[in-house]
Amino acid sequence: MNDNFDIGIIGGGPAGYTYALHSSAQGKSVVLFEKDQIGGVCLNKGCIPTKSILHSSEIYKQTLNGEKFGVTAQNVTLDYSKVIERKNKTVETLRKGIELALKNAKVTVINAEAHIKNKNTIECNDGIYNCSKIVCATGSSPKVIKGLEFDHKFLLSSDDILKLEKLPQSILIVGSGAIGVEWARIFNNFDVETTVVELADHLLPLADAEVSKRLERIFKTEKIKFYTRTCVKAINNKKVTLSNGEVIEPEIVLVGVGRTPNITDKIDGVTYIGDVSGEIQLAHYAIKQAIEDIDGIKFERNLTPSVVYGTPEIAWIGKREQDLEPDTYKKSLVLLSAIGKAHCDGQTDGFIKILSQNGNIVGAHIVSNEASALIQQITIAIQNGISVYKLKEVCFPHPTYSEGVFDALFKLS
Ligand SMILES: Cc1cc2nc3c(=O)[nH]c(=O)nc-3n(C[C@H](O)[C@H](O)[C@H](O)COP(=O)(O)OP(=O)(O)OC[C@H]3O[C@@H](n4cnc5c(N)ncnc54)[C@H](O)[C@@H]3O)c2cc1C
Repeated sequence: MNDNFDIGIIGGGPAGYTYALHSSAQGKSVVLFEKDQIGGVCLNKGCIPTKSILHSSEIYKQTLNGEKFGVTAQNVTLDYSKVIERKNKTVETLRKGIELALKNAKVTVINAEAHIKNKNTIECNDGIYNCSKIVCATGSSPKVIKGLEFDHKFLLSSDDILKLEKLPQSILIVGSGAIGVEWARIFNNFDVETTVVELADHLLPLADAEVSKRLERIFKTEKIKFYTRTCVKAINNKKVTLSNGEVIEPEIVLVGVGRTPNITDKIDGVTYIGDVSGEIQLAHYAIKQAIEDIDGIKFERNLTPSVVYGTPEIAWIGKREQDLEPDTYKKSLVLLSAIGKAHCDGQTDGFIKILSQNGNIVGAHIVSNEASALIQQITIAIQNGISVYKLKEVCFPHPTYSEGVFDALFKLS
């Protein structure tokens, strides 16, 4: 078989399906190859399943701890199989939505592994597909590190952890990036004895240092055990020896130390987007890369918001305090304990911190409920050069967490 298309895309994750939908909207003929499931890691093994399970875990915890809100529940039980059932349903609903969108857009979807032969040819099964342009959006896979190779029984990847049929008694999580922190919160909410090991000086090493320290405080309050500047030294018979001499015996270990792009060699003339591009490994970054290439709508790579989910959420944008030279910036920090809505919700541990230079915001770091939404307001302001003064003219509703942003603006001058 020999077929011709304007665009050939390998990989049906956020990068690939966005590219397919946007190029089809421009009247281009598109073929999309996906060897596993449409939606990629994000929908099937990453963003969506983790947030669905996280939500269940938060409901469980809130139900157990409702007393201070005047709600006492008895005989609270947890059926993990139902948690997973709901997660599967959520994923399936969303996947069907994308599949339908691709169908309506008349994208030819081929459910098989494909390979790029040259910059205009894709091979799949016995077919040859000639494409004016080829986009490689093959994503990434869990990083394997020496000594902690996945055996998929005791040493698990972020893919394996989703396949658990029941909760363990205890877990060791190696790595405290977003994946490690979110899973630590999930397991802890479900009353699983949770320990986190991080090689860097602080948890969430890519965050602003003050955010990392606050997260450590929150972990202590939540009784999530963690060790920083520590790594796994040896594993013998499920006994894990850490570099600080501590020996622990978790039921399972989640190794969440990053992801490796699914690529061998880049081919000239082929466009690489999403996790495979080797840039920032986030779904919204992948989507923006696709839109930039096909629609020509530029985006500022250094203004990609980061969000870590759980209670409270953590989000940041722009420069971290440790990136700025002393005395070159202004800083304001509003504690959540000063915000009415935080008291109403019983969630006062956190802050909204804004950094500015020459009257413009250059960074924001938020540990708060709704941080994921708040960071978006600030991203719009930074990207559009809306000054601190102009933002002060904006009316913020009451009672909301956004008032913390408003208060922080006034503390800047
Ligand atoms: C546990 C976890 C939680 C996450 N949470 C978040 C989050 O909250 N927010 C966020 O922004 N990001 C999150 N991410 C990251 C996010 O999932 C990725 O950045 C995103 O999926 C990248 O999209 P992509 O399209 O580049 O690749 P992918 O989503 O990995 O999709 C690539 C697709 O290509 C297919 N493929 C690969 N090779 C071939 C081939 N040869 N032929 C055919 N098909 C092929 C794969 O099967 C896959 O479906 C999370 C990741 C994980 C693991």
